[in-house]
Amino acid sequence: MDTDPEIDTDGWFDGALARPSPNCDERPPATTIDLLVIHNISLPPGEFGGEWIDALFRNRLDPDAHPYFATIAGLRVSAHLLIRRDGALVQYVPCERRAWHAGRSRFGEREACNDFSIGIELEGTDTQPFTAAQYHQLGRCARALRRRYPGITPERVVGHADIAPGRKTDPGPAFDWARLRRAL
Ligand SMILES: [Zn+2]
Repeated sequence: MDTDPEIDTDGWFDGALARPSPNCDERPPATTIDLLVIHNISLPPGEFGGEWIDALFRNRLDPDAHPYFATIAGLRVSAHLLIRRDGALVQYVPCERRAWHAGRSRFGEREACNDFSIGIELEGTDTQPFTAAQYHQLGRCARALRRRYPGITPERVVGHADIAPGRKTDPGPAFDWARLRRAL
């Protein structure tokens, strides 16, 4: 896992477990992909492992399996990539398509960041440290994405909270931005 992954023509990562999500569509015509958005997610909140994130992103979350799930089971959301606590990489949407990860959002003067961004979810919470394996995998993925999409400059690698302030807090204060910047 020391060389950076290859990304195929459609934007699938070599070495990722492919779990295609229906929650995606075409990007607007002639879109340049030039933003990388870092998120965190855990289901149920604060619990790791299990197949609940896959289920959410594939519209198969059982609303009766946990009280929290009833509140989110109707969402139609996804991300391009998920990095599990052990560093395992899961891909739901090929990079060339628009994943539904950012929601109402703004970067500079541009709204609707899903149009022009890649979304990476880290399995975690705002307050618990992410794992070394996750930073390693995130670094590999971010470098590969920057080669493929050179518009993703270091200052265009942001958190969900940066593009949806007041509405979102992830990846949260536990995320080590300096560590990611060094890996870029
Ligand atoms: Zn998020």
